Amino acid sequence: RGLSTMSKLDRSLLKVTKTAAPKAKLPNSELVFGQSFTDHMLAIEWDASKGWSAPEIKPYGPLTLDPSSCVFHYAFELFEGLKAYRDDQNRVRMFRPDLNMKRMNKSAERICLPTFDSEELIGLIGDLVKLDQDFIPVGKGYSLYIRPTLIGTTAGLGVGIPDKALLFVICSPVGPYYKTGFKAVRLEATDYATRAWPGGVGDKKLGANYAPCIRPQLDAASRGYQQNLWLFGPEGNVTEVGTMNFFVVFKNADGTKELVTAPLDGTILEGVTRDSVLALAREKLNPAEWTISERYCTIKEIADRSDIGELVEAFGSGTAAVVSPIKEIGWNGKQIQVPLLPNEQFGELTKNVNDWIADYQYGRIESDWSRIV
Ligand code: PMP
Repeated sequence: RGLSTMSKLDRSLLKVTKTAAPKAKLPNSELVFGQSFTDHMLAIEWDASKGWSAPEIKPYGPLTLDPSSCVFHYAFELFEGLKAYRDDQNRVRMFRPDLNMKRMNKSAERICLPTFDSEELIGLIGDLVKLDQDFIPVGKGYSLYIRPTLIGTTAGLGVGIPDKALLFVICSPVGPYYKTGFKAVRLEATDYATRAWPGGVGDKKLGANYAPCIRPQLDAASRGYQQNLWLFGPEGNVTEVGTMNFFVVFKNADGTKELVTAPLDGTILEGVTRDSVLALAREKLNPAEWTISERYCTIKEIADRSDIGELVEAFGSGTAAVVSPIKEIGWNGKQIQVPLLPNEQFGELTKNVNDWIADYQYGRIESDWSRIV
């Protein structure tokens, strides 16, 4: 692998086959996250002896795979999630795709699937998005969700290094996560099931990390909670919330505030939104009033500081919703109330972070976080 005789991923070799049956575009009101897809997909095959084949954009459609393919048996699968936005000048912009490509390559490396040149794939995704750009809905909070996926396609039941793989990218037009404005959620602090652990793969975006989280989510839902707050270890460190990174704001006795999220210790998915929240908080919040901390925080600290009025707000962060306000955490038989602004479904920083990030996503602030395709 990596020998010079092997073909690298090469955007200039792209072949495009356009659909003969363009789909009707759904009105904004009918868009459901990840339920409808654009006309085309990007597909690139890889073979251990040849490297990456010529990329292809072709009509969206089913894959044909041998039932013994390693993806079906041993979970050789990883994915990414990013968005493209239409700006005020009708240009299309991808938000920080370089971070998604970096994370995708790290995921691939971990499960012996082939890595690739990030810039080549960003260019190819741009080609796909451009071809299907009429599917990108116009409006505040609307975007195109892009799902790059990499699977091992080696046929045969031996457990080993895949010698064949398929990278494909599909796109789904999506609306704002909260159609009628923010809706703060209730979380159940979950300690009987563990999302990720030291030495594990929780910091990689492997499909195998997601299926086991649905049962605990159903259990939490049966008790009236929308999501799990994933705890780790005997101390009950707060790690993530559902499929989002977790942020909490504390007030100190001297009136200063602290924004806290878990450190990237290998158990935390390295969220692009998390990174953006931290960067913008460091840039915009007054350092005389605020500390921004990547540190461990236990559920007990949250409960104790709630008791003394030092819990200010909490939210999840992720590509789908950007931020998701939290109003209550059930833990150990008690309900921790997380403050919201009066008559609102969010805290002050939660709302500000959402607006700050949107300015970059929609290109109202020009920066290298936003790539015009
Ligand atoms: N944590 C997990 C477990 C996730 O699946 C996601 C979604 N990718 C996130 C956090 C948020 O990451 P991002 O901000 O890159 O969407």
